[in-house]
Amino acid sequence: MSARLPYLSAKLQGLGTTIFGEMSALAVATNSVNLGQGFPDTDGPREVLDAAIAAINGGQNQYPPLIGVPALREAIAEHQQRFYGLAFDPATEVLSTAGASEALASVLIALLDTGDEVVTFEPMYDMYAACAAMSGATVKPVTLRPPNYHADIDEVRAAITPRTKLILLNTPHNPTGKVFTGEEIQAIADVAIEHDLIVVTDEVYEHLIFDRLQHVPIAGLPGMRERTLTISSGGKTFNTTGWKVGWVVGPAPLVAAVRTAKQYLTYVHSGPFQPAIAVGLRLPDSYYDEIAADLQAKRDRLCAGLVETGFEVFRPSGTYFVTVDIRPLRADGDGYAFCRELPHSCGVVAIPNEVFYTDPRRGRHLVRFAFCKRFEVLDEAVSRLKALAS
Ligand code: PMP
Ligand code: GLN
Repeated sequence: MSARLPYLSAKLQGLGTTIFGEMSALAVATNSVNLGQGFPDTDGPREVLDAAIAAINGGQNQYPPLIGVPALREAIAEHQQRFYGLAFDPATEVLSTAGASEALASVLIALLDTGDEVVTFEPMYDMYAACAAMSGATVKPVTLRPPNYHADIDEVRAAITPRTKLILLNTPHNPTGKVFTGEEIQAIADVAIEHDLIVVTDEVYEHLIFDRLQHVPIAGLPGMRERTLTISSGGKTFNTTGWKVGWVVGPAPLVAAVRTAKQYLTYVHSGPFQPAIAVGLRLPDSYYDEIAADLQAKRDRLCAGLVETGFEVFRPSGTYFVTVDIRPLRADGDGYAFCRELPHSCGVVAIPNEVFYTDPRRGRHLVRFAFCKRFEVLDEAVSRLKALAS
């Protein structure tokens, strides 16, 4: 919990500076290998970069339409059909947002009232609790525990109260790298239907899945389309995290509510990058296969190095993050102290997972490393960590 800030509203007290800001600044100050904040160190596909350059040179530099340029909305609808067999109307059921971040903010601000509750799994991406707080709502977490991070549906049921407005799901899951199984997704859908809840599903890592596992979009299950808002982003899939092109898809009445909030956040965003992400979404299957294979090899490389270093490693099935238990190397299990010292002691930056829990003690001994980096960068990080461990 961060120190009380003057001027900051009561509802935002305790949110402080995001861990990503803190750790990336430390990486720069200490010239460390930054395996903290998740961003790739290679560019995305040439066609996508060229499309953005062409859009800028072609004069697409003013406000795009509120809901996003038609080419992007059509490409998003095609993508949902092509990969998941789900049909969405690009005119009324697709909304482009400034990254998945603005999608999350717009969705939560649009749907939640003061006192409402959101059931979600923890560890959780830090924006969930922050955006719920901005809406005057609170998060009720269901804890996923290593090594398997199994989603206990009885705990989900127990977390639901008359104030519960929605279930917020994230698969593949940051920071654990868990890919929810078809059975888990079905069980969550059953609970949502039984309690007449909306489901918001954050699927930004939908294409970053390994070992031939399948992504199961909850919107595709019977009875779920009409109650689900699906969020994703071009940032992870096309290595363009700085472009902030994200989206929400769902039934028209839910998307209309989200659009109302989005109008008063950014209104519109990322003009020339929108048609470029449309080009990316239409790339052939081979592109999608290659990014998953490339990241899988990077996962294997970093996991092997972390095991050799002596950590207990929880091998992820998706995303570009791996979590380790630091206790074999640091008996007091203080992950935050470990991450604050690491840049100074060996020039590597990682993220303490305790920030992803409502009660930090649950994740105190866990630390997250990003592997969306070139092999030589991963190797350098491992050799520095090994030097520290020896
Ligand atoms: N959700 C999750 C789980 C994420 O990891 C991220 C990446 N920071 C986001 C949402 C935000 O995505 P974007 O960069 O497109 O805003
Ligand atoms: N999603 C990325 C991560 O989890 C980046 C987060 C951010 O910078 N807000 O590391």
